[in-house]
Amino acid sequence: MVKYINVRSKARIEFIDITEMVQEVIKAEGVMKGICFLYVPHTTAGIIINEGADPSVQRDIQNALSRLIPHEMNYFHREGNADAHIKSTLAGTSLNVIIDEGKLLLGTWQSVFFCEFDGPRHRRIAVKFLH
Ligand code: ZN
Repeated sequence: MVKYINVRSKARIEFIDITEMVQEVIKAEGVMKGICFLYVPHTTAGIIINEGADPSVQRDIQNALSRLIPHEMNYFHREGNADAHIKSTLAGTSLNVIIDEGKLLLGTWQSVFFCEFDGPRHRRIAVKFLH
């Protein structure tokens, strides 16, 4: 069975901490040990693990990506969101996280972030367990 986490981004570029939402799915499914697959079925969004304690880190990552991949450039893709497609490719659209003792095995400062690169939009993250 595949479960879905629904999020609604409010800005064009926004990282949403979904760690607790994933944790709730793990709890609801009663998974104590295994692997949690997280998959973002979108072409202009991504999913990453990085620091959740200091929100400045998210802004620094977003700014660095935007310096590397500007919104406006001479892109072939004329939809106006070519940068978001490239950022999605760099961030990646899936994660595998170990579940131990009913929890995601994350480091002290780590959180799971859904990465919006072309919001605001309704988005979803697929969650599947191997256990
Ligand atoms: Zn596009």
